[in-house]
Amino acid sequence: MNTGAIQNKRVYLDHSATTPVDDAVLHEMLPYFTQKFGNANSVHAFGNESALAVDTSRRKIARILDVKPTEIYFTSGGTEGDNWALKGVAEAKKEKGKHIITSCIEHAAMMSSCKQLAAKGYEITYLPVNSRGLVSPADLEKAIRPDTILVSVMLANNEVGTVQPVRELCEIAHRNGVLFHTDAVQAMGSIPVSVKELGVDMLTFSAHKFYGPKGIGVLYIKSGIKPEKLIIGGHQERTMRGGTTNVPAVVGMAKALELAVNNLQKNYDYVKNLRDTFVERVEKSVPYVLYNGDRESRLPQNANFSFEFIEGESLLLNLDLNGIACSSGSACSSGSLEPSHVLLAMGLKHETAHGSIRFTFGKYNTMQDVEYTVEKIIETVNKLRAISPLFAEFKGEIKNV
Ligand code: PLP
Repeated sequence: MNTGAIQNKRVYLDHSATTPVDDAVLHEMLPYFTQKFGNANSVHAFGNESALAVDTSRRKIARILDVKPTEIYFTSGGTEGDNWALKGVAEAKKEKGKHIITSCIEHAAMMSSCKQLAAKGYEITYLPVNSRGLVSPADLEKAIRPDTILVSVMLANNEVGTVQPVRELCEIAHRNGVLFHTDAVQAMGSIPVSVKELGVDMLTFSAHKFYGPKGIGVLYIKSGIKPEKLIIGGHQERTMRGGTTNVPAVVGMAKALELAVNNLQKNYDYVKNLRDTFVERVEKSVPYVLYNGDRESRLPQNANFSFEFIEGESLLLNLDLNGIACSSGSACSSGSLEPSHVLLAMGLKHETAHGSIRFTFGKYNTMQDVEYTVEKIIETVNKLRAISPLFAEFKGEIKNV
């Protein structure tokens, strides 16, 4: 499969929104939709067959992450993992305190959960970021209080790809006796993620970001930590998360993680080369463009640009007409015309944040995809600037100098 093929002028550059399911993953999943369809909780042979697949997948994931199988909890994805970690600790630790620390550039799954907790009387401190989107450990040190119960900072940001100093942040939290959760949804499968090295107590990830199926993920919970349950029902996930287990998805996630980790360096180098070439060409050929995020501490797939004097949405729609799929802000917030909270937190002006677009590369993209996209960006940016009142005003100002 090649989602990046340009024969039909379809270039997919939105891998941080989701990825296609790898053929090998689909192959592994298929029997569990039809022949091996048993409910993993049933006591008969059909059930046992599914239960064995779930158990094997859990062990495989635990082995890859170097954690215990009993520390792996299957969820419906990143949103549920983030909700569970945050609300589960908030409820379980409310006698100790009601203060939670996070960053101001988290995904909507965290931001909305924080807002909900704030409405229930919890106090949330949002750590600022610098102009490159990085959280400062010194700011965390200052923010921790005796009533702080949880620190949650994402490992890699979904919009600008910045990779946070999670290990250092986690050490600070632990030195102060505070639990640490990280949202590793964008990082897992893209960069090396070692639960042990990071030292985190909880970690969220989601299979559809690394060529696995949608609607399945993991919340890693270190032994001994007991967040309150989020979804209650049957006895699944050792009574911690109710709901009939999505067996094909669990099997697919384990396979996808295995492939991602086994091929991590190869895919990292391949995708980074495409991204770096793309960034270099755009910066060289388009004036008044800002490359958002950190150049070093960054996911290999992510390129986020602000094109001055034009609307990101207009550029996005024009590129879509040329078969190029990218995103303005995160997929979850597109549909809203508010500028990205991440870019605003990094200090961008509203107008500049409005002209921002995220391109995220994947393992099926090619150098031809890069060339075609750069060509279309140049063409479209020129076209949109030619009718932009902001650009006309700017040019007028230049003439008046
Ligand atoms: N966290 C981050 C950083 C994400 O990028 C996303 C999805 O884009 C999520 C959480 C939500 O994950 P899911 O789509 O599996 O619910």
